[in-house]
Amino acid sequence: MKAAIIRDNQFVVDEIPTPVPGPGQVLTKVRSCGICGSDMHIFKHAKETLEAFVANGLISADQVSNTDLVLGHEFVAEIVEFGPETQQTLAVGDRVCSIPFIKQGDELNSIGITPVVPGSLCGILVVDGRAAGARSGKPWRRGGGPGRAVGGWCPCCSEVKHQ
Ligand SMILES: [Zn+2]
Repeated sequence: MKAAIIRDNQFVVDEIPTPVPGPGQVLTKVRSCGICGSDMHIFKHAKETLEAFVANGLISADQVSNTDLVLGHEFVAEIVEFGPETQQTLAVGDRVCSIPFIKQGDELNSIGITPVVPGSLCGILVVDGRAAGARSGKPWRRGGGPGRAVGGWCPCCSEVKHQ
């Protein structure tokens, strides 16, 4: 699939592998993507940002061997396919959003901030599907917008919440 990639301090459009949803993950089609102030900072200072991520333990040094970055951590997407071990209480075609983190094995990785997990400046994105499970409760609406969260953890109580 095509993605907007930061490579050598420039934006280029190039092909990257289309992700496959693993256990607990959901494959989504990106509908829209915001450009955050963090994205602008990373774009202007990509090398220094990656060095700071390594220095602070956010990623390991071997994870920056590929310095291509696909930014995009504020997005709306549409469910395309459920990976294994997802509860599937939402439907294919439902619009979702997510906090920009995904659990991969024992690691919690950021989406669209490091080279580890491409962000939403591409066509297809994998998000954490735990909030797709059947749970009751008030929707978590960060910033007051309507919608459902897939993979959204409430920062106050660490509960996964959805509508
Ligand atoms: Zn942001």
